[in-house]
Amino acid sequence: MNQSKDFLRTIVEEDLKSGKYKEVVTRFPPEPNGFPHIGHAKSIAINFGIARDYKGHCNLRMDDTNPTTEDTQYVEALKDAVKWLGFDWGDDVYFTSDYFFQLYDYAVQLIKMDKAYVDSLDEETMREYRGTVTEAGRRSKYAQRSVEENLDLFDRMKNGEFKDGEHVLRAKIDMSAANMKMRDPLLYRIRHAHHFRAGDEWSIYPMYDFAHCLSDYIEGVTHSICTLEFENNRDIYNWVLDTLELKPPRPYQHEFARLGINYTVMSKRKLLELVEDGQVSGWDDPRLPTIAGYKRRGYTPESILTFCDQIGIAKANSMVDVAQLEFCIRDDLNTKVPRVMCVLDPLKVTIENYEGSEEIDASYYPDDVPKDGSRKLPFSREIYIERDDFMENPPKGYFRLTPEQPVRLKHGFIISCKEVIKDANGNITEIKAEYYPDSRSGSDSSGIKVKSAIQWVSAKEAKTVEVRLYDRLFSAEIPEGVDDLNPDSLKIIKDALIEPAVITDKPDERFQFERQGYFYADPVDYSDENPVFNKIVGLKDSWSKKTKVKDTPKPKAKKVQVDGEVVPMSEAEQALFDKYTAEFGLNSEVANTLARDEQLSSFYEESLSLLDSPVSLANIVTNEVARELKQIEASELKFSAKQIAQLVQMVDDTTISNKIAKQVFEEMVRSGEDPAKIVEAKGLVQISDPAKISPIIDEIITKNPDNVAKFRAGNTKLLSFFVGQVLKATGGKANPKVVNELVAEKLK
Ligand code: ATP
Ligand code: MG
Repeated sequence: MNQSKDFLRTIVEEDLKSGKYKEVVTRFPPEPNGFPHIGHAKSIAINFGIARDYKGHCNLRMDDTNPTTEDTQYVEALKDAVKWLGFDWGDDVYFTSDYFFQLYDYAVQLIKMDKAYVDSLDEETMREYRGTVTEAGRRSKYAQRSVEENLDLFDRMKNGEFKDGEHVLRAKIDMSAANMKMRDPLLYRIRHAHHFRAGDEWSIYPMYDFAHCLSDYIEGVTHSICTLEFENNRDIYNWVLDTLELKPPRPYQHEFARLGINYTVMSKRKLLELVEDGQVSGWDDPRLPTIAGYKRRGYTPESILTFCDQIGIAKANSMVDVAQLEFCIRDDLNTKVPRVMCVLDPLKVTIENYEGSEEIDASYYPDDVPKDGSRKLPFSREIYIERDDFMENPPKGYFRLTPEQPVRLKHGFIISCKEVIKDANGNITEIKAEYYPDSRSGSDSSGIKVKSAIQWVSAKEAKTVEVRLYDRLFSAEIPEGVDDLNPDSLKIIKDALIEPAVITDKPDERFQFERQGYFYADPVDYSDENPVFNKIVGLKDSWSKKTKVKDTPKPKAKKVQVDGEVVPMSEAEQALFDKYTAEFGLNSEVANTLARDEQLSSFYEESLSLLDSPVSLANIVTNEVARELKQIEASELKFSAKQIAQLVQMVDDTTISNKIAKQVFEEMVRSGEDPAKIVEAKGLVQISDPAKISPIIDEIITKNPDNVAKFRAGNTKLLSFFVGQVLKATGGKANPKVVNELVAEKLK
């Protein structure tokens, strides 16, 4: 759990301490109209997490007041998600529909108090009467109906005597309230529709604002925690409960910021569209941000909860980098799963001086993973290696097999290339190689130096498997629609080759395929005859390097020269590692990369001596700088540690955004120019001045009247559309936080 207490827990503690409540009761109240996504995971983690931390209870309540969009398959998906995340709602799942009779009685009570009336204006007039932010509204003439007439009409509404839209029940509050939501809000509407639980019993359905607060009250909820877009609904929440003079204690609403993640859409409506359009294979498509999708892809519940914990609970909306979620799963699996070898694009290698066959004993886990277990790796004269682990004309910095450069077969021997066999079109079809008998891993006396160890499988024993390589579903940081779908989000490899123990021993369901990433046996399509593996995540954030030459060695391979097994750190490296994790707060993956690489750590320390920003500097050094150092020596770099410090400084003081920083870095690689100069010359300074951003927003608002209307009519999800447009219009230069606030303000 978070060490520092978040604002919600602070409130809960105060309320328990003051005796306002004896026990804390929260609830997770989804509408069963789609599969839950990672945003819901955040809400689940908060509500169930608080209940657990304070020994209270969290209810799972289906907010099923909209008969036309809801369904039991969604109820099941929601239950699955909560369970999978490790939470327990107790004996019963609650449904708002179970309270329909009680809610109806409360409505009758309000009518009797002359606090609610049946209105019969048509929709358009009603909207017109509502007024605007600057003008008070007007009350409908029907508000003067007597209590008796209202009771009679409401009863007949219930009995199905009227058509949809003919009448509504409204609260009688204040048509000139500054908070427009308080201008006589709707409490009930007529809907002749079949409800998936209540059947055809009801012709009227309560609105969220009426049903939610009362459901909370009925269940004895104390803290009703919701997302920020309900801030203005809080007044109604309080009005309903106060006006009915309910017996205390009663619940109070508290709002937190909803989770948004880049490269992702996160609303059930948009997800439903992707599912219905067939853009994905279903709600559990491993590319979707649904809990079912993450589960099928191979994410662990722990990694998702860690992520929810890391992002914290705030009062202002913000966008979280999807790389952070990917980091959490990588970090979780790193210490848990067996390492095995799989070749995705096989190239045959015949070891001409090897006869017979043998089995090599190989541990599943590297030394720094506290787990035991090993398997036998069959080795023979014919093996397969990854096609891109051989290059005939390698660029500088290529560490794997070439006609001149030997390479180690992980856990096995060193081989060198003797002959390259090609087909009529010049494609390489086979390598004739030689092995060194005295180079056996663990007892190498050959004296031969290699720069990396590669994965391989024995041709005869290897098993054919299907591997599904998943990447981000959208290629735009803030996706706007299907145009932004990433065409390469799924690549299926039908004939990858894997070492046999994975299939026959089944040491786990999740694996690290050496040098490829983390993989999961697909829980739906996997069978012994046709094993299928899903790529969960790569070994490192590869997204930022997409434009780079593909043929750089994978980061992990570089320092793991001797054998591909993790070499224990030297004392000096260990000391650095300890300092980086304990003092600088770097995560173990980053600290490990730095501590083991002298070039990197000295570059890092130099930049750190100029700027006290250990985490940001470590990130750029282990990602961007390390990438360059794989191709050239430190002395050949065009940029200096000082310039990297300057670049990070500009991000830290918000002169430029993270995204722009990447662009500036690319330019520094090319020209060696100071970052400040590049930013100035290219006009990349982040725009945070509201006076500059405002006119751009105004223009976008004018250009999109339809979306503005939809937003004002309650489709608050369009907020991200507007924010995206503004960011796009400024070439990514506008400060996203400022844009978010301004857009929200202007659209009010
Ligand atoms: P969507 O826009 O995806 O349909 P919603 O808010 O309509 O989401 P509900 O089923 O009504 O979805 O939400 C159930 C609970 O989950 C609510 O308390 C809601 O505030 C919370 N929730 C939904 N989306 C997010 C999110 N992105 N971040 C945090 N909490 C969320
Ligand atoms: Mg909703």
